Amino acid sequence: MRIDAVSIFPDYFNVLELSLLGKAQKQGLISFQAHDLRHWTHDIHKTVDDSPYGGGAGMVMKPEPWGEAFDDLITDNRPTVIFTTPAGRPFNQALAKELSTKEHIVFACGRYEGIDQRVVEHAKSRADVLEVSLGDYVLNGGEVAALAMIEAITRLIPGFMGNAESIVEESHADGLLEYPSYTKPQIWRELEVPDVLLSGHHAEIAKWRKAQSVERTKAVRPDLLAE
Ligand code: SAM
Repeated sequence: MRIDAVSIFPDYFNVLELSLLGKAQKQGLISFQAHDLRHWTHDIHKTVDDSPYGGGAGMVMKPEPWGEAFDDLITDNRPTVIFTTPAGRPFNQALAKELSTKEHIVFACGRYEGIDQRVVEHAKSRADVLEVSLGDYVLNGGEVAALAMIEAITRLIPGFMGNAESIVEESHADGLLEYPSYTKPQIWRELEVPDVLLSGHHAEIAKWRKAQSVERTKAVRPDLLAE
């Protein structure tokens, strides 16, 4: 998978060199590049924002640098362009799964009051465009949202995780939250690991885990059970 991210703070993405994502890049499973939007400006101040039409607080990102960035980055057949925005559809595991099958994703990371809406409309002529929110809160910029989405998407690419099993039995994989996990020692600060997990009885363990999953989902996220 090829991933590009356009931002006025491309250094935000340096963390992608760490851990499993760094390894996946070295292995050639993922090719990632962060781009500085100011590269596509032409004035001495490298201006990317201007005041909003209609008035109001804050500045809006100008369309011209974004247009030129997409001219350079969209050279293949209809990649997916994701505009990170709190006004977008909520990101979730189902969307991460769908996006993990794409060949090329371009993340557009806004700042200030966001990007001139015509950039979104124009991108639709040459890409599959999604406006996506990380959650119901407002961040200063789209970089952290893009990072979270990149991590959730790429770990679902076959071959990314050392143990493919670990993404099958996870929270949100089947609409439930995951059951609680325990490791050694068996007794820690007078707290014991549930007996069933020590029984070696696989069917009983599976039954217990399923019940814990349902209980936890009911308690913490009843909305998921309703779905
Ligand atoms: N004025 C915008 C609004 O009210 O919808 C918020 C702009 S926010 C301060 C600046 C940028 O941060 C946005 O353009 C977007 O790229 C990013 N951003 C903020 N919150 C986000 C969220 N929940 N999900 C994804 N991106 C977000």
